[in-house]
Amino acid sequence: MALFKPENVEDFYEIEEVLGSGHFGQVRKVCERTSRTHWAGKFLKIRKTACSRLGLDRTSVEREVEILQILHHPNIVALKDVFESRSEVVLILELVSGGELFDFIAEKENLLECEAIEFLKQILEGLKFMHKNNIAHFDLKPENIMLSDKGSPHPNIKLIDFGLAHHFCQGEEYRSTSGTPQYIAPEMISNEPLSTAADMWSIGVITYILLSGLSPFQGETDEETLKNVIATNYQFNKHYFSMTSSMAKDFIMKLLIKTPNERMTAEECLVHPWIKPITRTQADKRSRSSINMRSFKKFNAKRKWKMSYNMVLMCNRLVSLRLPCKSNSNPDPLQVRIKTYSKV
Ligand code: ATP
Repeated sequence: MALFKPENVEDFYEIEEVLGSGHFGQVRKVCERTSRTHWAGKFLKIRKTACSRLGLDRTSVEREVEILQILHHPNIVALKDVFESRSEVVLILELVSGGELFDFIAEKENLLECEAIEFLKQILEGLKFMHKNNIAHFDLKPENIMLSDKGSPHPNIKLIDFGLAHHFCQGEEYRSTSGTPQYIAPEMISNEPLSTAADMWSIGVITYILLSGLSPFQGETDEETLKNVIATNYQFNKHYFSMTSSMAKDFIMKLLIKTPNERMTAEECLVHPWIKPITRTQADKRSRSSINMRSFKKFNAKRKWKMSYNMVLMCNRLVSLRLPCKSNSNPDPLQVRIKTYSKV
């Protein structure tokens, strides 16, 4: 277990602007006083009593820290230090300054499948490493896929937010129903035992969106979305997938499979011909196919709008609870952490 330093974080770091917000606190840019290096400080409010509605359990934070300590990989955010006070734990993380991958792509005029694959490969490399260490992320979605530096010609992917991640012990049966409806695997909704295959479902959904700008299971309401996921009810609408290669669709079909152990693993994905072509024809197909940029831009704009809308809702709720609502530069997305499925 990591050492949670009892010292005041501000004795070591200057606290700067807000980078983003989550359910249990803020992420702020911090500057190390001795080296003048910048980091990201994730400030997590800790529940004071077991029956308190506000804040996180200390054990959840310990779990996130333990997992981050294991994961040393170029495509996974690194943890530097942990501080603890009576009401707060502060994780000092590598600063990921390139923003979200989806925002970076949405700024482009067009993108070939082979260019999108370069990003996907890095996501899969990070996942392969995580899964080899028996760790599942369980919250993969566009908001948690960031870029280290978008100014570089080949920006590096960084997977963030290990708040729902789980480290499996041998033979352990683990269930959880927390997640985001659009990206959640069917076995999570039906509260079945989970494995790293749940992350592979999310990769299928993310790839589908990346190529078409459509969300495969999105319904009018969260309940409808969850029903679509359970039914594995999706198709490749010709209008949106007219520029997509058949290999890309094959890749998605091998991930959006209801039975978890029939899905491709991250390792298998990395040798799928769409990711790693064997023949010249396969390589050519990827370079002739492109992502549906018009539709993707619309999807991303709507996603960002929903993030702002949900932030306003969250602030209103805090105001009604008479709690202070701090402003932030990167508001919370539609992160409905669904805990019960009684209506499904
Ligand atoms: P959630 O409630 O969504 O799970 P969380 O409290 O676990 O959120 P994160 O998702 O880890 O918090 O971070 C919230 C936001 O802060 C992210 O969406 C991102 O914009 C920003 N952020 C997180 N980590 C970093 C980092 N290392 N560098 C830069 N920005 C970051």
